[in-house]
Amino acid sequence: MIDVFQPSLGAEELERIKGVFESNWLGKGKINGEFEEGFAGHLNVGREHVFTTNCCSEGLFSSMHMFGIGPGDEVIMPTISFVGAGNAVCACGAKLVLCDVDRRTLNVRACDIEPKITPNTKAILLLHYGGVPCEMDEIMALAKKHALAVIEDSACSVASTYKGQACGTIGDMGMWSFDAMKILVCGDGSMLYFKDPALKEQAEKWLYSGLESKSGYSNSVDQKWWEYDISSFGHRAIMNDITAAMAVEQLKKLRGFIARRKEIHETYDRLLKGLDWLDTPPDIPDYCTSSYYFYHVQVVGGHRDLLAKYLREHNVYTTFRYFPLHLVKHYGIEDNFPNADYAAYNTLCLPLHQSLTDADVETVARLICRYGEDHGLNTAGSSDGY
Ligand SMILES: *Cc1c(COP(=O)(O)O)cnc(C)c1O
Repeated sequence: MIDVFQPSLGAEELERIKGVFESNWLGKGKINGEFEEGFAGHLNVGREHVFTTNCCSEGLFSSMHMFGIGPGDEVIMPTISFVGAGNAVCACGAKLVLCDVDRRTLNVRACDIEPKITPNTKAILLLHYGGVPCEMDEIMALAKKHALAVIEDSACSVASTYKGQACGTIGDMGMWSFDAMKILVCGDGSMLYFKDPALKEQAEKWLYSGLESKSGYSNSVDQKWWEYDISSFGHRAIMNDITAAMAVEQLKKLRGFIARRKEIHETYDRLLKGLDWLDTPPDIPDYCTSSYYFYHVQVVGGHRDLLAKYLREHNVYTTFRYFPLHLVKHYGIEDNFPNADYAAYNTLCLPLHQSLTDADVETVARLICRYGEDHGLNTAGSSDGY
């Protein structure tokens, strides 16, 4: 089976994990520090803005707490969002306000957000779909005008930039995921960014039981070091040094992963662009860089589900991300989002990971072309000799 996502871990990660075993320190320690330092460098921000936590969903939940969002408040997000984002808003008692997206990029735009703003709106929670940045200038201007916090779910955009600035560091808070399905993976883990270092300090304590001082040898008092105080009734959500050991090695490989993903993206473009029944992803603006997390095609004429089934029968697994939240019954939101509906009905994410061979990519493209031929869809002729 050619999988849609796949991690690339190797001897380097194992070797670092071995070092953690030998150190006898499995908790959040030096290696987390090394990862925070390295990731801050990767983002081109100061170390005082970032820290690790156990998963990006925890980051989404903590964003509500850190920006004081609760009952009576509203948070706007695109209906094409990760379920954890919707849950974070609803769980804190705030009102989840969904909006539409661009039907081709699946990214939210300022014009989608603006009509949803009310006097109760506190924040915009957006994601950069598939690693392609949203048009942040317009969104930031809108947020400024209405004094709204901007939270960037950057789980898809680990290496994306918008006009030279790392996605996740443009708004007030950003979060990245290193779970098993992402590009930089360590099983589970996340990095959080806060524009305001004081808020980062508070958040770091909140995610470590609200403890005021560090425990263990790093505590400088020389007697009764077991006494403590807390500053909040916080959670305990930390990354440990076993997962951080994987993450530091993955970070070294990230540039190579992205380069390979870009090649695959371009190969799909070359092999699929000529098909008139299938839209390849829109071009990435020249002032942005992508992380190439998804390669999403849009199959017109109601063939998406049949194509997905055909590919699966031929050992190619595909998926659609993210099933719109207004179609998730439990949220109980009835609204009309024509672009998101179009996207949900037609979009398919093709296999994209750095371990795909050129032959794998050609196999996927050839199967798609063959599906079109079998169904008489290639009226304008197929592309590149298939
Ligand atoms: C994976 C993902 C998350 C959640 O990340 P976890 O680390 O698994 O909690 C959040 N948002 C988006 C867009 C994701 O793809």
